[in-house]
Amino acid sequence: MTSTAFPMSLIREDLAAFGGYSSARTSFDGPPATIWLNANEASSANAADTDGRARRYPQPQPEALRTAVSAYLGADYEQVLLARGSDEAIDVLIRTVCAPGGAQGIITCSPTFGMYAVSAAVHGVPAHDVAQHDTGSSFEHDLESVAAAVRKTGARIVFLASPGNPTGSVIDLYDVLALADEIADVAMVVLDEAYVEFADDASAIAAVGAHPTLAVLRTMSKAHGLAGARIGALIAHPDLIAVMRRVQAPYPLPTPAVDVAIEALRPASLVDTAIRVDETVELRDRLAEIVSAARGVKVVYDSHANFVLARTSTPDRLIEAVRGQGIAIRDMRHLPGLSDAVRVSVGTSDDLDALAQALDPMTTLERNA
Ligand SMILES: *Cc1c(COP(=O)(O)O)cnc(C)c1O
Repeated sequence: MTSTAFPMSLIREDLAAFGGYSSARTSFDGPPATIWLNANEASSANAADTDGRARRYPQPQPEALRTAVSAYLGADYEQVLLARGSDEAIDVLIRTVCAPGGAQGIITCSPTFGMYAVSAAVHGVPAHDVAQHDTGSSFEHDLESVAAAVRKTGARIVFLASPGNPTGSVIDLYDVLALADEIADVAMVVLDEAYVEFADDASAIAAVGAHPTLAVLRTMSKAHGLAGARIGALIAHPDLIAVMRRVQAPYPLPTPAVDVAIEALRPASLVDTAIRVDETVELRDRLAEIVSAARGVKVVYDSHANFVLARTSTPDRLIEAVRGQGIAIRDMRHLPGLSDAVRVSVGTSDDLDALAQALDPMTTLERNA
């Protein structure tokens, strides 16, 4: 339920009266047509498009998918913006809220997902970083300093991720809501829940109705196994969603991607996804053990996601050792504060066997002890 108003002062002033692109799809009104000659589409389907599903422009926000996503997430239909991955939702949100060329920037908390700062840079708004604190086993946000940085810099969006990438750490939902309330007069709080299915923690979506400046990002790229379909969503106040619709590309969601996403949200697929998530969470402990046992590894952080982050005194050796066996892991050394870190995704049981073998010559464990 949404009863609280969205503070429209948080929308870019120059967009307040902006109508966006008026597409053939969105501008058609009148009695339902049977012959569609308004969008310059082809008169027959492509030979490769056997069921003809792709001949027409798609709905800008396909109703069936929006309904399925709202039901799956427990959100109101009007709170959901579907996007071409959460990457697009991040980009459209920044462009909707922050005017370029001035002080209306964003706050990030390193080490974190790179797209927040990339989207800000491309749009020409500043990104201010408030580093997380490394406790030795996880990363903790300094939300007091985040609130202070918002006041000081005039930033309009705070991006938080829980579980975080690449940290795998979670943030207490109570703390997120307290921050959202504290800065509600000047900035939004966006909680990126790309990995929430792998965590025990509850989603913040149920709190969006009562906290109008809180928004939540979700994706079908991770737990749902649809990274190639590029389907993400922002759950936020309907008034904000309505403006974002005018900023977003006219037809952001390709029909084949929408079709597979709808199938993925049917009960049978969701059961399958839940099983995959359980398996991943189980294998995560084994992955942590395998990486911990490799020579030179100093710490493997507690993870609530589908990967682990580790620090090693010999990152080059570790990366080379697995690469030699055809295994790619993510070098995180380009990130601030992670000059000795790698991130490894969970994979299958066989993948982990291969990883264990690749790291074996490097292990310090006495196997026959
Ligand atoms: C992987 C990831 C995403 C997903 O992005 P998509 O564009 O939906 O694929 C979003 N946020 C974080 C923190 C991620 O790690």
